[in-house]
Amino acid sequence: MSTLLNRPAPKMYEVELIKIVNEYDEVYSYYFKSNESIPFKAGHHTHLVAPNVEIERAFVRHMSIASTPKDNEIVFSMDLSSQSPYKLQFRNAKVGDRTKIFKFGGDFLLDMEKLRSKVVYIAGGIGITPIRSLIRQAEQEKLDIQQELIYVGKGYMYTQELDDYGFPIKRIKRPDVPDTLKKAATEKPDALFYICGSVSFIDAMRQQLIDFGIGVDSIIVENFTKNKKPEELGENEIRIKSL
Ligand SMILES: Cc1cc2nc3c(=O)[nH]c(=O)nc-3n(C[C@H](O)[C@H](O)[C@H](O)COP(=O)(O)OP(=O)(O)OC[C@H]3O[C@@H](n4cnc5c(N)ncnc54)[C@H](O)[C@@H]3O)c2cc1C
Repeated sequence: MSTLLNRPAPKMYEVELIKIVNEYDEVYSYYFKSNESIPFKAGHHTHLVAPNVEIERAFVRHMSIASTPKDNEIVFSMDLSSQSPYKLQFRNAKVGDRTKIFKFGGDFLLDMEKLRSKVVYIAGGIGITPIRSLIRQAEQEKLDIQQELIYVGKGYMYTQELDDYGFPIKRIKRPDVPDTLKKAATEKPDALFYICGSVSFIDAMRQQLIDFGIGVDSIIVENFTKNKKPEELGENEIRIKSL
């Protein structure tokens, strides 16, 4: 495998598929276990290689990790409907299959230095994945924060688990967004807002929050459609195109 700027090859972590859950429609969650300790933080994304293939560009994607380092499993959720070669490998995957993950990074974190007493998560579809990780972290570490989730989607996952936490959750469709965001921004003007989804979703949500009086420094985003330029890559990230 070649690497960007002659960086050393990243360490690969082998993981084994232990459970597959059909969340709704074509959306599936894949639970893996590893014999090694995996160096990631709640909210991080990684590079997930599709099972049963050689590592090459067509079979590696950025994926957010939906679990936390305290969990005994590494969880990914994805929509298989594109039928891309990568997703077809996952459609055919079976419990016991092995694959690899490598490089962990991102700024979509509950950073204790920036954290506020109120946190509002806004998920667009599959963008719920790193938000589940942050929510689990907050619950596992018993962080003293008031959480709220606004979940915009055609379907919804992790439903029972999220409901069991007992904080306010609004599962809504796109037309309900303006009223729901306005209410959250008005009631919690001092909250930290975490948005995750496609670039168009993020842009729309961020603009509405700003229109409702929320400052840009109160908004943290994770963009599932971003294509970072080399100079934007963090020390722990590599460009998939370099594979
Ligand atoms: C930081 C980050 C975190 C992410 N986290 C997640 C996550 O948790 N879950 C998640 O699902 N995604 C996540 N993504 C997005 C993910 O990396 C993929 O881009 C996304 O899942 C689409 O991959 P794909 O293989 O379906 O489509 P791609 O191969 O990337 O192609 C894009 C589109 O082209 C078409 N296409 C490509 N090849 C074929 C083919 N052979 N046949 C038919 N159509 C084709 C499809 O319409 C497809 O939607 C994340 C991205 C980033 C940057």
